Amino acid sequence: MTANPAKSALAARLEKLAIRSKLDLVLHLPLRYEDETRLTPLRQARAGVPVLVEADVVDSDVKYRPRRTLVVKLVEESPQQVGDPRGNPSYLWVRFLNFYPSQVKQLSPGKHVRLFGEVRPGFFGDEMVHPRYRVVAKGAPLPKSLTPVYPTTAGLSQAQLRELIGQALDELALEDTLDDSVLEKYGLRPFRESVHLLHRPPPDVDARSLEERTHPAWRRLKFDELLAQQFAMRLAYRERRGKAAPPLPDKHTLTNALVKSLPFSMTRAQRHAHDMIAKDLAHPHPMRRLLQGDVGSGKTLVAALAALQAVENGWQAALMAPTEILAEQHFLKLSHWLEPLGVRIAWVAGSLKARARKAALDAIASGETELAIGTHALFQEGVTFSRLGLAIVDEQHRFGVAQRLALAAKGAEPHQLMMSATPIPRTLSMSYYADLDVTVIDELPPGRVPVITKLVSEERRDEVIRRIRESCRDGAQAYWVCPLIEESETLQLKTAMETFETLKATFPDLAVGLVHGRMKPDEKARVMADFKARRIQLLVATTVIEVGVDVPNATLMVIEHAERMGLAQLHQLRGRVGRGSQESLAILLYSQPLSESARMRLKVIYETHDGFEVARQDLLLRGPGEYLGARQSGAPLLRFADLEKDVDLIEAARATAEELIASGSHAVVKHLDRWLGTRQFYLRA
Ligand code: ADP
Ligand code: MG
Repeated sequence: MTANPAKSALAARLEKLAIRSKLDLVLHLPLRYEDETRLTPLRQARAGVPVLVEADVVDSDVKYRPRRTLVVKLVEESPQQVGDPRGNPSYLWVRFLNFYPSQVKQLSPGKHVRLFGEVRPGFFGDEMVHPRYRVVAKGAPLPKSLTPVYPTTAGLSQAQLRELIGQALDELALEDTLDDSVLEKYGLRPFRESVHLLHRPPPDVDARSLEERTHPAWRRLKFDELLAQQFAMRLAYRERRGKAAPPLPDKHTLTNALVKSLPFSMTRAQRHAHDMIAKDLAHPHPMRRLLQGDVGSGKTLVAALAALQAVENGWQAALMAPTEILAEQHFLKLSHWLEPLGVRIAWVAGSLKARARKAALDAIASGETELAIGTHALFQEGVTFSRLGLAIVDEQHRFGVAQRLALAAKGAEPHQLMMSATPIPRTLSMSYYADLDVTVIDELPPGRVPVITKLVSEERRDEVIRRIRESCRDGAQAYWVCPLIEESETLQLKTAMETFETLKATFPDLAVGLVHGRMKPDEKARVMADFKARRIQLLVATTVIEVGVDVPNATLMVIEHAERMGLAQLHQLRGRVGRGSQESLAILLYSQPLSESARMRLKVIYETHDGFEVARQDLLLRGPGEYLGARQSGAPLLRFADLEKDVDLIEAARATAEELIASGSHAVVKHLDRWLGTRQFYLRA
C-alpha cells in the first residue's frame, strides 16, 4: 500500500495538536469565537472590536511605495439606511501587505465582499488591514452560529480545521455515555448537545460563560473528563486489591521493643498512622499508602515500625531516600534504633566502593539483610532482594515515575509506603492520587515552637551577620543556605565555596563548616557529624540540606536569595530549624527587584507555617501541571477541568464513579471506551 503523502502531511500536523481520531477533533475546542452572524454598519464599528461588514469594491490598486501593497477601496451598500443620515456613502480602505496575484483579481471593482476585522481610522478614512474576507453574492445568508477560532499549528489553516471538525461533528453519533438520571442529578447537559454548542454556539449564547468555561456545555465536558479520570484511578485501585502480596501482620515483638526503647512517646497522630499501616500490611494485597506529615512530624519512626513488621514476618524491607545525605541520616538513625533489636541493616548508595557494594548486594540477595537503606541505587539493576515485602519511599514527590516502577518490579508485588512532607492539596488527592490510600500525621511532637520567619533585604545583611554572631556566642547553631543557581551546578558550588570563605573571615571566632552536593559521602557525613556534635557552629550549605537533616540544636537559618526558591523548597529548608524546644528563626534574604511571583512566594512563606496551606498556595501559584511536574508525567493532565475552580465537579465525578462502579453500570465501560483513547489518556497506555 502506498501512503497518500498529502494525507500523511495532514495527519502529522494534526498529530502536533495531539489529534488522532475523529473524537479528538470533536474535543479540540475553540480558543475563542468571532461573531459573523450579523453585519455591523461601518459607522458603528469601534476600534478594538472586530466586526463583519459588507461592501462593494470600487477600486483596487497595487502600490509600490513605501512598499508593495494591495489597496482596495470599497463602498458600503445602502448608505441611506445604515450610514450617514444625510446619505453620504461610507467608504472603507483595505490594505494587504502580503497577497497573491489571485487576490488582486478576486477583489476587482464590482465584487461584493464580506470582511471581518477591526475598523480603524486611516489616512484616507476608515480602514482595515489584512481582514479575513469572502466574495459573496448579494444577500447571501449569514452563518447562524458564532465562528470558532481553534488553536492550530503551522500549515493547518483555521478553515481546514473548521472543515475537519465540522465533518467529525456531523459524522459521529456522540451518544451519551451517562443515563438521564445521572445527568439530572448533577444538572448536566447531554454530551452531543454540549460539544455541538461549544463548536457552534448560537449568536445569543452567554459569551462570558463560554470564555470563563462555566457554561453548562463546558461543565459537561469537564465532568466527563473528571469522571474518566476517577474511573481509571478506581479501576487501578481495584486491580491492585485483586493482586497478592505477603500478609505481614503486626506481631508486636520488634515493634513493641522499639517503642519501649524510645526516649519519647509517640504522638497520637503517629500511633494512628502506625495503626493504619499495620492493618494494611496484614492484608494479602499490596499496600499503596501515602504517609503525609509536615516536616518534623516524625514520619521516620512510623516508617521504622512498618519495616519492623516486615522483618518480624521474615520478609525484607527497603527504604529509599532521594539524596545521599538524607539516606545517610536515615541509615544512622535507624541503625541507632534497630541494631540494638538485632535487625541487620545494609547501606547502598551510588558512591559505595566496589567491594563494599558487592558485600551489601550479596547480603541483600541472600536474605541476610533485613532492612536495606539507600538512594535510588537500591533499585537499580544488579540489586536483587531475596524476599522484599515492603518498599518505603521517603519524599516520594522527588522521585520519578520510572524509579517508582523500577522499585515495584523488584519484589513480586511488595507493599509500598510513600512518605511526603509536601502534602498533596485536597483537589489533587481527590484526582491524581485517587488510587492511593492516604494517612496524614497532623500533629508535631510536643514542645515544638513555631519557627519565626523574617524577610530581610540583602541591603541589611550586616544586621543578619550581627544576629548570627550573638546567637552562636550564646551556644546556638546556625545554617547559612547558599543561593540556588539553577543554570549551573558548578557556579552554585563556586558560590558556596566563596560564601564559606567570606563567612569564615567574618566570624574568625566561630567554627564554620561547609557541606555541598559534590562532596564525597564520607566527607559529607563527617561534616554533618561535626555539626551534630556542635564542633561546627555555623554550617554553610547548598540546598542539599533541604530534606531530612535533623539537628535540633540548630535554631537559626539564613537563606540567601530566597526569592529564587520554590515554595515547597523554602518550607522544607525552614523545617530544618525549629526541631527542638527552643525558639528558632529563619531569615530569608532577598534581592530587589522582585518579580511578582517571587513577591507572592515570599509573602506566602512569611505568612504561612502550615505545610498544607503552603502546598495549596503553591498549587495556586504554579498550577497543577507544574506542581505535578515532569516527575508525575505518568498521570494524565486535565485539559478541560480546573483543579482549583471545579472542586464541585471533582466531587460530583467522584461520587458518580463510586456509584456506577458499585452498581456494575454499563456506563463505566461506555465512558472509558470514549475517553481512554483521547489525548488525556495517551500517557497511561
Ligand atoms: P519527618 O516527619 O520530617 O521525617 P522526623 O522523622 O525526622 O520527621 O522526626 C523529626 C524529629 O522528631 C526527629 O529527631 C525524631 O526523632 C523526633 N521525634 C519523632 N517522633 C517524636 C515524638 N513522638 N516525640 C518527640 N520527638 C519525636
Ligand atoms: Mg523525613
